[in-house]
Amino acid sequence: MTISLLDLKAQYEQIRTEVQGAINTVLESTKFILGPNEIYFEEEIAKYLGVKHAVGVGNGTDALVIALDSLGIGLGDEVITVPYTFFASAECISRVGAKPVFVDVDPTTLTMDPEKLESAITAKTKAIIPVHIFGRAANIRRITAIAQEHHLFVVEDACQSMGADADGKKLGTFGDIGVFSFFPTKNLGAYGDGGLIVTNDDTLAERMQMLRAHGSKVKYHNEMIGYNSRLDEIQAAILRVKLTHLDDWNQKRQDIARKYNQLLDGLPIQLPDIGLENQHIFHLYTILTDKRDELKEFLEKKGIETGIYYPLPLHLQPAYSELGFTVGDFPVSEAACKRNLSLPMYPELTDEQIDYVANSVRSFFKEELMP
Ligand SMILES: *Cc1c(COP(=O)(O)O)cnc(C)c1O
Repeated sequence: MTISLLDLKAQYEQIRTEVQGAINTVLESTKFILGPNEIYFEEEIAKYLGVKHAVGVGNGTDALVIALDSLGIGLGDEVITVPYTFFASAECISRVGAKPVFVDVDPTTLTMDPEKLESAITAKTKAIIPVHIFGRAANIRRITAIAQEHHLFVVEDACQSMGADADGKKLGTFGDIGVFSFFPTKNLGAYGDGGLIVTNDDTLAERMQMLRAHGSKVKYHNEMIGYNSRLDEIQAAILRVKLTHLDDWNQKRQDIARKYNQLLDGLPIQLPDIGLENQHIFHLYTILTDKRDELKEFLEKKGIETGIYYPLPLHLQPAYSELGFTVGDFPVSEAACKRNLSLPMYPELTDEQIDYVANSVRSFFKEELMP
C-alpha cells in the first residue's frame, strides 16, 4: 500500500463538477481581478468566521506583511513571534523593517508559551504574532490579555487553522488582525496562491483594502505606498465552493486524529494534544519522537510518505544569522525540530489506510524495542 502525506486528488474528485463550473463562470465573465467572486467570498468567509471585515490578498505571506504595515509597524520596532513555525511568520516582521523577537513554544501544544512572553517585551515591542501551528489554537486568551496589559497589537498567524476555534470563537478573530493562507496544501486551499486578512476594525480594514491595491481607493489615485496583492477571481470562485465543505473536512481530520491517537497510544512518542472541542483541526498530524529519522525511513519503505515540519527553527536560519542566536537559545523549538514527524493527514483517508499507518508505526517500535 502507498499512502501520501496529502492527497489533493481525492478531494478534487469529490468537488470536480462544482469547481469546474465555478472556474468556467469566471472564464466566461472575463473579470479576473477584484470581481464579484472576490466580493462574495469576502462576505461569506467573514460571516463564517464571525468577523466584520475580510480582505482577500495574493498569499498568506503578503497578508502578514500588509497586516503589520496597516498597523504602522516598521523600522525601530520589535515584533514577537515563535521560532517553531514557517519562515513567513518572522519574515513579514523583517520585511516591514522591524526586528523579530522570539519566544519559545510550549512543549505540549507547540504554540507560543505565554509564561515566557512577558520577559520578551521591551519598550520597542509593538505587536505579537502567535501562530496556531498545525491547526491547533495557541493559548490565545492568555496572549491577548498580556498584549492588552502592555498595549500591544496581536496579529494571529492562522495560516494553518481555518475553521478551528477556542471556546466557539474562531481563530483569527481574537487579535486585532487575523491572517490566513490559501496555499493549495492548507486545510482550506486554493488551486494557486491566495491569502486573507480579517479584522473587526473599520479603519484597519480600509487601510488593508488600499494597501493591497497600490494604496488606492479610487483607481489611479494613490494615497499611500502599497502592494499589488489581490485574491484573483478564479481562486475566489474555487474557495467559495470549498468553503461549503470545510466544516465537514475539518470534522473528518479531527476524527482521523482521534483514531491515530488511540491506535498509537502507549508507544515512546508524544502524540498531538487535541485540546477541547474544535481547538485543533489537524492541518497536520504531527508526532514527536527521538527516533524520528529512523521512523521516517522505515515508513518510507512501507510506502508511507511523511513530512518534517520544520527541520530548522527560525532563530537558527541562515537568513537570521545577523540576529546572533546560537543553539540552546530556544530549546523547546530546537527539540521539536529534531523530533517532529507528520503522518498522512487528509479528510479522505480511509480506516484501512489509518490502520496501515498506525500498524506500521507500531511495528517499527516493536523492532526498535526488541532486545
Ligand atoms: C503557509 C504559511 C504562511 C504563508 O502563507 P503563503 O500563502 O504560503 O504565503 C505563513 N505562516 C504559516 C504558519 C504558514 O503555514
